[in-house]
Amino acid sequence: MIFPDFPALLLDWYDQNARILPWREDPTPYHVWVSEIMLQQTRVEAVKPYYTRFLSALPDIRSLAEAPEEQLLKLWEGLGYYSRVRTLQKAAQTLISDYNGALPADYAALLSLPGFGPYTAGAVASIAFNLPVPAVDGNVLRVTARLTASFADITKPSVRTEVTEALQQILPTDRPGDFNQALMELGATVCLPNGAPRCDACPLSTICEGHQQGFAAALPQKAPKKPRRIEERTVFVLLSQEHAALHKRPDTGLLASLWEFPSVEGALTPDEATAFLTGMGLSIQKLSALKPAKHIFSHIEWVMTGYLVWLSEMDNRFIWADQEQLEGDYALPSAFRVYYTACKKALKKEQML
Ligand code: SF4
Repeated sequence: MIFPDFPALLLDWYDQNARILPWREDPTPYHVWVSEIMLQQTRVEAVKPYYTRFLSALPDIRSLAEAPEEQLLKLWEGLGYYSRVRTLQKAAQTLISDYNGALPADYAALLSLPGFGPYTAGAVASIAFNLPVPAVDGNVLRVTARLTASFADITKPSVRTEVTEALQQILPTDRPGDFNQALMELGATVCLPNGAPRCDACPLSTICEGHQQGFAAALPQKAPKKPRRIEERTVFVLLSQEHAALHKRPDTGLLASLWEFPSVEGALTPDEATAFLTGMGLSIQKLSALKPAKHIFSHIEWVMTGYLVWLSEMDNRFIWADQEQLEGDYALPSAFRVYYTACKKALKKEQML
């Protein structure tokens, strides 16, 4: 049961404390949508520059629908979860073909678009169109669990449904978008995760059962995540004549269709790496070890061994990019950041010789 005074207290607080964010300055449906997709699994501060850059390159649904894939991926480079931007474009294409190029002001129609789940549809419907629909994300689940002193497992879909239904009952119909944003904002800035709620700064402390009963920090309850699978990889930064070798990943699976430095499974020693590349018919001039690196995906963790390898000639099994092309034309996933930096440094040094 969520206390009935809760929306008024929350909105008063939001009116005084809402952060100034670029997508709140001009909340058109397109702007709200792009920001919501970018904010999935990415922090607000990290999203800001991407949001601005993305909108200046693709200012409307049509330009998004028609953007070449390489431009799209380059604009997303570093944000991760590239399937989000591909799905964003698919939805834009659907809007052009079926909705006269505009987002529909209808929850069910939004929900039917590619990449729209109940949260995104609720956020766009309420923030952009002022429709009275809840938007329940992780922040909202945490705040409501503490507020109601609920020990239910918030990873269960049934709990999300219960919270959505409870919020639907009290959602203020005059300001549904502000209410949803206020709840998320409270979760992001006051009712913080990992046992650290700032109850002394919270507008809901007088009605919060978790706080009143003294166990807010122990909430919410979540089923433990499965441990990530560790995968060892050896990454080769292959260089020749001021160019670096790139390879396109398969169309499906992890980092689908993205560019990468050639890599193989396993942690190869320098001798094994030399034997492997020589076995491929590549002629090595020099091979040196790079820093080991790690990258965490949602279900897998890559533990990477890297080598910088100068070859006597370019091999046509790879695409070869010079420094400018590497920076301007090819989107490399952030998993390769350490090796990308080493590659650019080596190419620059070579240019200066
Ligand atoms: Fe969260 Fe504390 Fe506010 Fe309750 S009082 S909603 S636990 S910050």
